[in-house]
Amino acid sequence: MPSEATKGGASWDSIDIELMTDRTVLKNLSESLRANGSILVCHLCDDVSELIAGILVIRANKEAWVLCGPCLRKIPLQGPLAS
Ligand SMILES: [Zn+2]
Repeated sequence: MPSEATKGGASWDSIDIELMTDRTVLKNLSESLRANGSILVCHLCDDVSELIAGILVIRANKEAWVLCGPCLRKIPLQGPLAS
């Protein structure tokens, strides 16, 4: 059964977005990628020198955006999610 959140009227509520900023999770992910010969790069700016600060998981679209610190701060979702 799809979760159609109707409270509050915030649109992101109904898309089921989760922001992962757990450093341990990010570190493990980064290390497992490196073992496969790839690195964790920000999806928005592709700047390999920026440290990844979080992963935005959009369940409805089955998407996951890897974001660096500066980009994470730029997206409007930051406020309500990073509580
Ligand atoms: Zn970025």
